[in-house]
Amino acid sequence: MFAGILEGNAAQQRRAMAKSITLLESTRADHRAQGDALLTQLLPHTGKAFRLGISGVPGVGKSTFIETLGLYLIGQGHRVAVLTIDPSSSVNGGSILGDKTRMEQLSVHEKAYIRPSPSGGNLGGVAEKTREAMLVCEAAGYDVVIVETVGVGQSETAAWGMTDMFVLLQLPNAGDDLQAIKKGVMEMADFVVINKADIDAKAATRAEAQITSSLRLLALHGSAEQHDGRHWSPKVMQISALNGTGVDAFWNTVQAYQQLQSGNGQLHKRRQKQAMTWMWERIETGLKQAFRQQADVQALLPQLQTQVLDGQLAASTAARQLLDVYAGAAATNPQL
Ligand code: GDP
Repeated sequence: MFAGILEGNAAQQRRAMAKSITLLESTRADHRAQGDALLTQLLPHTGKAFRLGISGVPGVGKSTFIETLGLYLIGQGHRVAVLTIDPSSSVNGGSILGDKTRMEQLSVHEKAYIRPSPSGGNLGGVAEKTREAMLVCEAAGYDVVIVETVGVGQSETAAWGMTDMFVLLQLPNAGDDLQAIKKGVMEMADFVVINKADIDAKAATRAEAQITSSLRLLALHGSAEQHDGRHWSPKVMQISALNGTGVDAFWNTVQAYQQLQSGNGQLHKRRQKQAMTWMWERIETGLKQAFRQQADVQALLPQLQTQVLDGQLAASTAARQLLDVYAGAAATNPQL
């Protein structure tokens, strides 16, 4: 599988990628072990791609934009992978994103690889699989990896936590109601792009001005480096994904970002920080799971919970007792 990802003809490579990603998505313990071995083999061949996060509410034009941008990038000699973090897939097994029919031309292009969001599991699980699929794509030589996410729930944070640049797509009327832009999302954006500028140029220009000034307000709390141009400060622009207007200007801005942030070391730092955050996130999830499944904890939990609910025991005392029970069990059982 490993060799197939790195070389071979396009069809072989595609098959090897699909097989690897399926393996990585599996929850079976033996598959997980094989998947980890594969990741370790792949890792030296990863990291060379630019990782672009794209977010926005349903209907803003994400798939139209990714189709247009993807084809433009292929025209420039790039190979483009599109992955998705779709919170709906973990809730109802359905998927708003990553449906191949959404990007008709890109999905059949031999220089593009589109993989829908894995279904099942919680957001952390879905994000983990997307992150690992990204490494497979990079090892296969895709040099632009787009991580698409829908602007609901915590999925933006997950996409932000695995990409080099986070782009927020907005509608031309976004400026009228800045409250509607979820708190925190604007802070994550390296680049805000107002789509559908062809529909209402006036509204798009107004939105651009309003978003620019709110970004400036946010930047007042930013670092000194941001103010003297050594670090990136977020940009705003208008496009029409449908007409392809502004796509070259968009990519020029992405390249300017990449150049600045590579030169000043920020890109490297961001990836290091992401890897650490990710590692701890997975450790915490794994520990919590092990904790909940441990027999002594399960035996003690109902009674302590009742005592906390009845006000007989402080929540922190109950937590300490349960942790002690878990630590005791873990000390005698190396499996935990
Ligand atoms: P997504 O849900 O964010 O992926 O949005 P889609 O890409 O599916 O777009 C939703 C609708 O908006 C579709 O009918 C698109 O054709 C339309 N659309 C997307 N971009 C533009 C644009 O730049 N201009 C106009 N007029 N319509 C657009």
